Amino acid sequence: MTQSNPAGYDLIVIGAGPVGLATAWHAARRGHPVLVLEQFDPLTERGSSGGAERQWRLQYAQEDLTRLAVAARPLWRELEAAGERRLIHETGSLWFGDTQQATNEGQIAGAAAVLDRVGVRYEWLTAKEIEHRFPFTGLPAAYEGFYQPDGGMIDVRATRWVLFEQAQRAGAVINAPSRVHEVLPDDAGVTVRTADASYRAEKVVIAAGGFADPLLERLGITLDVELLEMTTCSFRLRDPGADLPTWFAFERATDEDTNLFYGFGRNPWSAEDLVRAGPDFEDRTLTSLHEPGHGPDQRHLRRIAGWVTEHLPLLEPTPVRPATCRIALPRDPARQFYLGPAGDRIVVQSAGWGFKYVPLFGRACAELALDSTTSFDLGRMALTGTPTTKAEG
Ligand SMILES: Cc1cc2nc3c(=O)[nH]c(=O)nc-3n(C[C@H](O)[C@H](O)[C@H](O)COP(=O)(O)OP(=O)(O)OC[C@H]3O[C@@H](n4cnc5c(N)ncnc54)[C@H](O)[C@@H]3O)c2cc1C
Repeated sequence: MTQSNPAGYDLIVIGAGPVGLATAWHAARRGHPVLVLEQFDPLTERGSSGGAERQWRLQYAQEDLTRLAVAARPLWRELEAAGERRLIHETGSLWFGDTQQATNEGQIAGAAAVLDRVGVRYEWLTAKEIEHRFPFTGLPAAYEGFYQPDGGMIDVRATRWVLFEQAQRAGAVINAPSRVHEVLPDDAGVTVRTADASYRAEKVVIAAGGFADPLLERLGITLDVELLEMTTCSFRLRDPGADLPTWFAFERATDEDTNLFYGFGRNPWSAEDLVRAGPDFEDRTLTSLHEPGHGPDQRHLRRIAGWVTEHLPLLEPTPVRPATCRIALPRDPARQFYLGPAGDRIVVQSAGWGFKYVPLFGRACAELALDSTTSFDLGRMALTGTPTTKAEG
């Protein structure tokens, strides 16, 4: 076993997903020697960050999460300026359906109340107004919702590439493929072991996404998460000149599934006339993200195709490019994410619909590791205990 860098690093980051790279970028920019260890290749699609786009939104039924999304905005701008690329496209965010329906993604009425309190603009719309303004049809008359114009979509691949480039430019060393088997904290620092090397650092950030469990178990930490394989697909626009905002339909659960659907507009960074849409059904669990996937769920594809046929005539109803993506979600929807210190030398971020917070989570992880404090309110995400602020929806 080699003893790499005997002088040791100030920080070792486990995982070169977007959160790990953002952490490395923030720490290395402050002049700290940083090592990132990634088990696959740094731009792998095998974690939770595959695919082209993610929804960017400010609305949450929990006020602290909306405030964090607002606080993430200037950090995204900073990353865009460093990479000289636009990463967030404000194409608008439309939420509609049963305004009282509480889901893992939030709740319309609660989120609108939070937007009021925080002072974020939005327009409240009836089903008729939604159908008049946007290409939806056949919505139940009782449906209502809101349009938030600052929401939109995140260019995932550009974000990952910019973070990869900027972390290295700031001086972070990225070793891949290099799978970490063990993290051993002691009074003087932390030893991090891979199959063929051993490294020392003052502090460690575990940004291993849904793969975090085996590393954490050895540290005596258990996160109450569910590992899910989600089915996604795209649809062809019938009118290549038309477009729509990102959207989420909050409907009453059926006996079979959550009955939730979401979708995107055209990717502003691509010339394709395809838009992505999918069911938000959390019923395909995995025991480990290393487990081979089951592939796209045919029933889920039929459900989203049925919803599109009924409500989105702008799209050809045949799903194209069916795919899957893996995610770890906290079982407690009030929690939404895990982020916090585990002892004096280790910081953990794992789980949740977290792409929108990538630069903020990266900064928070770097601050917690290097300064032992952060100004961001991450109380609900603490590794132990139950969230202090309950979900309002
Ligand atoms: C279908 C789907 C849709 C989503 N939609 C949205 C959305 O609209 N909006 C939103 O904000 N979020 C969304 N998310 C969530 C978002 O994509 C994730 O929160 C985010 O991509 C996670 O990034 P990460 O860096 O934490 O994890 P990952 O990208 O999974 O990175 C973790 C990395 O750690 C590495 N690693 C793990 N263990 C080890 C080890 N032992 N040694 C070395 N390396 C290791 C892994 O290989 C991986 O590269 C969605 C997720 C999915 C799956």
